[in-house]
Amino acid sequence: MRPLSASQLLFLWDAGQRRHPIDRALLALALALPEEAPEGLADHPVGWREARLLALRNATFGAQLDGYDACPRCGAMMEFSVDGNTLLAALPLPAPDAVIELDGGRWRLPSSRDQALALEADDPESVARNLLACCHVGGKEAVSPAQIASLEARMEALDPAANIHLGMHCSDCGQRWDALLDVGNWFWDEVVACARDLLNTVHRLARAYGWRESDILALSPARRAAYLDLVG
Ligand SMILES: [Zn+2]
Repeated sequence: MRPLSASQLLFLWDAGQRRHPIDRALLALALALPEEAPEGLADHPVGWREARLLALRNATFGAQLDGYDACPRCGAMMEFSVDGNTLLAALPLPAPDAVIELDGGRWRLPSSRDQALALEADDPESVARNLLACCHVGGKEAVSPAQIASLEARMEALDPAANIHLGMHCSDCGQRWDALLDVGNWFWDEVVACARDLLNTVHRLARAYGWRESDILALSPARRAAYLDLVG
């Protein structure tokens, strides 16, 4: 995966602000994967989107992921430090035509499009029910509560990148838990921070030299930094 360029990052920050996180992630992937038809990106399984997005953020901002999560038992904040490429290598991508068979019915893995449709419901339970109904092969069909639990477990096993967990351990009380890594949020926070830096750089260099935004963004990061030093 190639990193996003400075002008692509600024475009993503600009256009992404008004979009739902799912659309934002798909927009980032449309920029990063010009060989894929943009309208087809939403049809891939959710884990495909999350894994590609993780690869894109690793390439753009470096593989290191440093963060923290609160211990669910004692509330202590525990840090984690993960290599994003190692994490990615441990997440197998599902076969595009993967199907789950249960009680005589067949379900495909949820795609970004299914997720967006299911989000029209208000409560998490209805969202889950809608999502699974959408994924029934051969037409939308209601699922029972028992089927929901069973299908969710099997979907998670088939498409682990759809819900990326980090194994956590509390050094204060010994509790172990799984922290959920929201790649979309993580990446977006990095995009926002990077865009602020880029805008600041454009502002200072444009004022000092009269250059256009596109010319400043086209400079290599090393040249931008060198000119910023000269401007002081
Ligand atoms: Zn604890």
